[in-house]
Amino acid sequence: MGEIIFQNTLTGRKEPFVPLRPGEVGIYACGPTVYDFAHIGNFRTFVFNDILRRFLRSRGFKVTQVMNFTDVDDRIIANAAAAGVGIREYTAKYIQAFLADRRTLNLEEPDKMVRATDHIEDMVALIERLTSRHHTYASDGSTYFRISTFPPYGRLSKLDASGIQAGARVDVDRYEKSDARDFALWKAPKPGEFFWETRIGPGRPGWHVECSTMAMKYLGDTLDIHTGGVDLTFPHHENEIAQSEAATGRPFARYWLHSEFLLVDSEKMSKSLGNFHTLRELLQQGHKPSSLRFLLASVPYRRQLNFTEDGLRQAAGSVERLRNFALRLRQGKFADGPPAMKERAAQAVAEFEAGLEDDLNTARALAAIFDLARDVHTAMDRGEFRWSDVAPVTAALEKFDAIFAVLTDDDAEKLRAMGLGGADRAPGDAEIEELLAARQAARQGRDFAAADRIRRQLADRGIVLEDTRGGGVHWKRK
Ligand code: AMP
Ligand code: ZN
Repeated sequence: MGEIIFQNTLTGRKEPFVPLRPGEVGIYACGPTVYDFAHIGNFRTFVFNDILRRFLRSRGFKVTQVMNFTDVDDRIIANAAAAGVGIREYTAKYIQAFLADRRTLNLEEPDKMVRATDHIEDMVALIERLTSRHHTYASDGSTYFRISTFPPYGRLSKLDASGIQAGARVDVDRYEKSDARDFALWKAPKPGEFFWETRIGPGRPGWHVECSTMAMKYLGDTLDIHTGGVDLTFPHHENEIAQSEAATGRPFARYWLHSEFLLVDSEKMSKSLGNFHTLRELLQQGHKPSSLRFLLASVPYRRQLNFTEDGLRQAAGSVERLRNFALRLRQGKFADGPPAMKERAAQAVAEFEAGLEDDLNTARALAAIFDLARDVHTAMDRGEFRWSDVAPVTAALEKFDAIFAVLTDDDAEKLRAMGLGGADRAPGDAEIEELLAARQAARQGRDFAAADRIRRQLADRGIVLEDTRGGGVHWKRK
C-alpha cells in the first residue's frame, strides 16, 4: 500500500501523512452547535469525518477521534431563555436527534463525544494560563485575546493580519468578517442571561476557547489532525490555533482538513438562508438513508457538492446496483475451476486504496469498484466466472463497504428506528399535516417544484389534496 497524502490547509499543500506517534492518530472534529436540528450540509462534514476515521482504521492506525457538542453559544442561550428552559434541557433534544441521525447514516461513534458545558473549569484554567502569559485583557467583565501578541496569526486562513487594529474587538460567537479582531475568551453575562460563577468572574466561554480546551485535554498539546467545514477556517480555527499555541508554546494541530460545502443552487446550504433539508425531512419524503450517505460520501471532501433530489435518486440507483452485485455474488451458480478474476479483484482493491490515499479521493475509489462490478457481471454473463472468484471479489466489496457502509439492506429498519415507517406506508394524520405545512411553506417561498413534489408523494401514498379558494387545503384518503 502506498503513502497517505492529505491536503493540509495549514501549509496549502498535499503532504504525506505521518502521525506524531507511529501507528496512532489523534483527531479533533468540530461538532455541531446544538441549537436546532443538524441539516444535511452539516452531515456532509460529519460523513467526511467518518470516512477519514474508517480509512485510517482500515490502515491499521489506532484512531482516537474526539468530537464536541457546542452546547453553549449566543443562540443557545437566547433560544433556551425564549423557551423558558435551562440550556442543558434545551440542547438535550437536539443532541439526541443528532445521535439518532448519525446512527441512521452509519456514522461510527467517535471515541469521545464531549460537551462544552462539562468543561467550564478547564476553559477557565486555559484562560488563566493565557492571562499569565500576557495574551489577554479585560474589558467590561469580559476577557479578550489580544491577537497582536501572537505574530503567526492568520497563517491558517492566509489572512494578512498586519493591519490589525489594536484593541478592535468582537464578542459575538459568529462573525463573517475577514478582518482580524481581538476575540472574546470569556464573556460577561448580559442582564438576565445565564452564566457560570468562576474565578475569572461570572460569564461563559467564547466559542473558540471551547474547542481548544477540549481538543488539548483529550489529545494533548499537539494533535495529528483537526477537521471541520471550510467555513470554520476563519475565524474559529485561526483563533483555536492562537489560543492553544499561545498557551502551550507548541504547535496545536499538524494537519488541518477542511470539507467543502454542500450547496443548493450554488449557495451554501445553511440555516440562515433557509435552503436546507434535514435528514428526517428527506426520509419522510421517501428517500433512503443509504442514498444520502452514498451521495455525501461519493464526492471528494475538498470539492463542493451541489445537492439535488435528482442526485439523491441517482445515488439510490448506484447503491441498488452494488447491492444487486453483492447478491449475485452470493446467490449465483458458477463453474468450478481455477479463478479467472483474482488478479482483476486485486487490481481493483489497489486502485480503491490508491484513490483513498490521494487525499480521500472517494470518487476515484468508487470508480475502481464500479469498474470491477462491470467486468465481473460480464464474466458471469459469459459463464467465465468461477466459484473460486467469489472470495477475492467479495473481499474487494468488503474493503469498499468498510469505508462506504451502504451494502447492508437495512434502510427500512433504520426508518423504523427513527420512528418513521416505510416510505410506501400510508401516512398518519400527523405526518400528513407536517407534509402539508412543508408544502405550504414551499408555496409561500415560491418553490412550486418542491410543493408539487410533496403533492405527488402524498398522491403516491394514497392522499389526495384539494386546494381551496381561500389558499387553504383539504386532504382525503383515496
Ligand atoms: P455548526 O453546527 O454550524 O457548528 O456546523 C457543524 C459543522 O457543519 C461544521 O463543521 C460546519 O463547517 C459544517 N457545515 C455547515 N454547513 C455546511 C454545508 N453547507 N456543507 C458542509 N458542511 C457544512
Ligand atoms: Zn470547533
